[in-house]
Amino acid sequence: MTGAATAFPGASAPRMHEHAPRMDFACRPGCGACCIAPSIATPFLGMPRGKRAGERCVHLDSANLCALFGHPDRPRFCADLRAEPAMCGDSDAEAMAILERLERDTRP
Ligand code: SF4
Ligand code: SF4
Repeated sequence: MTGAATAFPGASAPRMHEHAPRMDFACRPGCGACCIAPSIATPFLGMPRGKRAGERCVHLDSANLCALFGHPDRPRFCADLRAEPAMCGDSDAEAMAILERLERDTRP
């Protein structure tokens, strides 16, 4: 997710999807792959050095939902990320594999 942070193109009320869905494709709540696999270069609340690839975001709760959803301090990268089949695949494990590969392929 670059610009806002990394190499990728994913206050807690309401607790719904972590990432806004495309019209025809919705995030799988509880997946959390795009909150773990990608790096986020830009510092943000609770992660002053950004997030390393594979590092779990400090705001990802035990249900793998974003505790910053709807909060103004949620990184722009996260707010802009859209669930899509090419990133999310058909399962949480597939999303993780896709995002890990993207991270490797786009590493500077
Ligand atoms: S990888 Fe896709 S399905 Fe998984 S949390 Fe992110 S947007 Fe949702
Ligand atoms: S701030 Fe929320 S959406 Fe962004 S990486 Fe952390 S848990 Fe995921």
